[in-house]
Amino acid sequence: MKMGFIGLGNMGGPMAANLVKAGHHVAAFDMARAAVDKVVSLGASAATSAADAATDAEIVVTMLPAGQHVRGVYLGEHGLLKAAKPRTLFIDCSTIDVATARDVHLAASAAEMDFLDAPVSGGVGGATAGTLTFMVGGGDAAFARAKPLLEKMGKNIFHAGGAGNGQAAKICNNMLLAVSMIGTCEAFVLAEKLGLDSQTLYNIASTASGQCWSLTSYCPVPGPVPASPANRNYQAGFTASMMLKDLKLAQSAAQASGAATPLGAQATALYSLFESAGAGTRDFSGIIQLLRGNPAA
Ligand code: NAD
Repeated sequence: MKMGFIGLGNMGGPMAANLVKAGHHVAAFDMARAAVDKVVSLGASAATSAADAATDAEIVVTMLPAGQHVRGVYLGEHGLLKAAKPRTLFIDCSTIDVATARDVHLAASAAEMDFLDAPVSGGVGGATAGTLTFMVGGGDAAFARAKPLLEKMGKNIFHAGGAGNGQAAKICNNMLLAVSMIGTCEAFVLAEKLGLDSQTLYNIASTASGQCWSLTSYCPVPGPVPASPANRNYQAGFTASMMLKDLKLAQSAAQASGAATPLGAQATALYSLFESAGAGTRDFSGIIQLLRGNPAA
């Protein structure tokens, strides 16, 4: 199939590489020439602009930093919706605000194009291994068309409902993750102060009602879960800055929709503090060091 791929950074680069590996003709574009060269060396062809990547494509994937980039690339004067053929399917995998995703859905539909918001979780490791989780918002027919392609880049493909619901699923999940991680960290910090060994707390809580993913898969203290970033001095993983980005998106969606998310607000404040202490590039589980009063440790 002829495809376009726009945004070839840490995530988009390996995702595009998996589509090439699956036998698709990928016209690739990024503002950074080096990023294009890398996927061209793997078998993609270089496009000269985002519009050029979309002109001949049946399906176009975008993987951009934030809402303003998505708005510019799709709706700008030389945007994708002007360049592509009718019935082109666009799949935006960027993590962006729900409102922008819904605006682009409307504009795409007015231009007789199909659009899906399809943010991912799984990080660079998942993008490289082709094991990402996709949370997809949009119509049934567009989802059915996209699914075989998404399966080349991911393992779990969820249809979360209509326009914007992929982004909604992503920010709800990540807000829950931030809150559960901070709660897990607080439990270990309190245990330390009380003289309770962290492995003992882990053995008990992991089989009791405190059990959660932040504890059993991503434990924020070294020892109990050997693969967790705590065992390599909180080298990311999923950075604290990425978590903060998602929390801010969740907070603005909560404000716009009138949802009460006081713990989400508190988590946003704590990750902001952690980032301003210079720890934005560390793994998000490193927030335990902030609670210990030593964010840079
Ligand atoms: P990145 O900064 O590495 O890549 C973004 C790429 O987009 C860059 O190469 C940049 O040059 C390009 N770009 C920006 N504006 C452009 C434009 N107008 N036209 C063409 N190219 C343009 O970011 P990333 O880590 O790949 O993340 C991409 C998206 O995925 C973000 O929304 C992020 O929140 C989300 N995400 C990232 C991770 C992760 O672990 N990195 C995990 C899940 C989701």
